[in-house]
Amino acid sequence: MNRFWSPAIRSLEPYTPGEQPRIEGLTKLNTNENPYPPSPAVTDALRHFPTDRLRLYPDPNASRLKDALASTFSLTREQIFVGNGSDEVLALAFMAFFRQSRPLLMPNISYSFYDVYANLFGIEFRKLPLDDRFRIRLEDYPGNNGGIIFANPNAPTGIAIGLDEIEALLKRNSDSLVLVDEAYVDFGGESAKTLIAAYPNLLVVQTFSKSRSLAGLRIGFAFGHPELIDALERVKNSFNSYPLDMLAIEAACASLSEPEYFAQTCKRIIDTRDRSAKQLEALGFVVLPSSTNFLFARHQRITGAQLMAYLRERKILVRHFGKPDIEDYLRITVGTDEEMDRLLNALETHPEIAR
Ligand code: PMP
Repeated sequence: MNRFWSPAIRSLEPYTPGEQPRIEGLTKLNTNENPYPPSPAVTDALRHFPTDRLRLYPDPNASRLKDALASTFSLTREQIFVGNGSDEVLALAFMAFFRQSRPLLMPNISYSFYDVYANLFGIEFRKLPLDDRFRIRLEDYPGNNGGIIFANPNAPTGIAIGLDEIEALLKRNSDSLVLVDEAYVDFGGESAKTLIAAYPNLLVVQTFSKSRSLAGLRIGFAFGHPELIDALERVKNSFNSYPLDMLAIEAACASLSEPEYFAQTCKRIIDTRDRSAKQLEALGFVVLPSSTNFLFARHQRITGAQLMAYLRERKILVRHFGKPDIEDYLRITVGTDEEMDRLLNALETHPEIAR
């Protein structure tokens, strides 16, 4: 800290992303990245990209990408917003919708960036507890709020709730915006996209980072009523006119052009996840039912911190959140079958597990 810092910056507690260490031979299961490459169409598009075009600014509206998303998701361009990763889309949505006189509501265990954005923008918030099986209880969310945000499937629990529960909330809560963060929906959740035509208070946010293997290019998007999209555009155009660069737009369009590759990759990850969950259970882990590309699990006899350190010594990186209620849990990204076998073999030889 120094005297040039704005007062509001002094008390910020920024989000801590998972590590990206450069350790040779590391099995990296800590940031929910996709273990498979992006679709061959993406490689092709980037390889043949005419670099002389990079002299020019990209299309500020990324219209080609919006049209490709509109056709993939059977929506209109006016119902779609795109941004530099879904983190940026979320930040713009906080600015556009949640700066209200009433508090924003969110689950007590969820994506920790929500608190960070709320603090950054001076938004008051209230956290509502999950139930004893780590499920979001939308029925507990009171009216008279300044907005509601949650992830479905939730992170880091991996647990999905049904669209009927979300629809009931939208009906009851028609006076404030409900934001559903669907970063992991392609691994087994049910998208609320189908509800946006009927509910003008719903914003759905998704990303190319997980199911489309493009975390490195930073591409996120949102679906909602055209007036909600208009609000996001207003904030975006007051902040950065060009959040998506030309290469990101090119790669995103290419990725959408190969739906079979996308479906196959998601299925592979789901299959690996489900068999890994069973194997972890056989080793004495309690594993929450996952609809995502990660498993949230605790061992019955070993603490989360100990296991994380044990795995790290064996060059296997998983995520551990030293927070109340979940301090014994590890969040394990689903990697390739080989990566999961490496993890399972390392766990099998842990003295407390092997005995
Ligand atoms: N939402 C959730 C629940 C996440 O876990 C993540 C990834 N950290 C994001 C949003 C952001 O993803 P991205 O910015 O890469 O689109």
